[in-house]
Amino acid sequence: MLKKYHGVMLGIILGLLFSVVSVNAAKSKTKWVTQAQPVKIPILMYHSIETRPGNSLCVPENEFAEQMKYLHEQGYVTLTPAEVYHAFSKNKLPQDKKVVMLTFDDGYANNYTAAYPILKKYHLKATIGIITSKIDTPDMLTSAQLKKLKKSKLISLVSHTVNHFELNQLSAKAQLEELTASKQWLDENFHQKTRLVIYPVGRYSEQTPELAKQAGYDLGLTTHPGLATKDQGMYQLHRQRVVLGMSELGFSELVKTAS
Ligand SMILES: [Zn+2]
Repeated sequence: MLKKYHGVMLGIILGLLFSVVSVNAAKSKTKWVTQAQPVKIPILMYHSIETRPGNSLCVPENEFAEQMKYLHEQGYVTLTPAEVYHAFSKNKLPQDKKVVMLTFDDGYANNYTAAYPILKKYHLKATIGIITSKIDTPDMLTSAQLKKLKKSKLISLVSHTVNHFELNQLSAKAQLEELTASKQWLDENFHQKTRLVIYPVGRYSEQTPELAKQAGYDLGLTTHPGLATKDQGMYQLHRQRVVLGMSELGFSELVKTAS
């Protein structure tokens, strides 16, 4: 009788343990699988989210909202800089998912007031390249907004250097200073390891990739058009430019990885 009781108890305990394990497995992150072909990632480049006719780099809020809705409906997974690094270094992608990385250059205040509410609505992750000397200046993100973005865990704050100088116009020493000082500021203020730098105006010299590595970054983004691949070099990744007035078809082409 006692033996039977023990057997039943053991069964219940094992059953409970098993159900706990399966719930945890279901809750755990998406499985990343090794790809047969080299990984390609569409890294979208945005700047200011506002209506400013004549400036093709300014994407109006309603267009941005349509684009985010499209990514949501198509089941896209938005990658962080750490995930992009993981994808390229291991040649892995989340299982059965389409991927995209969203980036914003310069750190406009409208990234918080216009873009962030839309990103939050669809739970999409994005990366903002901050010019550290421009924080709290007119039209740019404030320290308070940056803190909220950091806290949201949806937004990665990365470097777009200190002064937004074109790096190819600077000496190696001055480049390293721009790369290092911006990283240090972000690391200290947001208690993070800043992994990514976006080169101002996409300009860089032959030495820049090595200098970015030396400064402690894992990834560097350019403005060369196209999908990003590891072959380009981890410090020379290409990006897809999102411009004013894109059709849904045009946008869908930018985020497509299969031809
Ligand atoms: Zn810029």
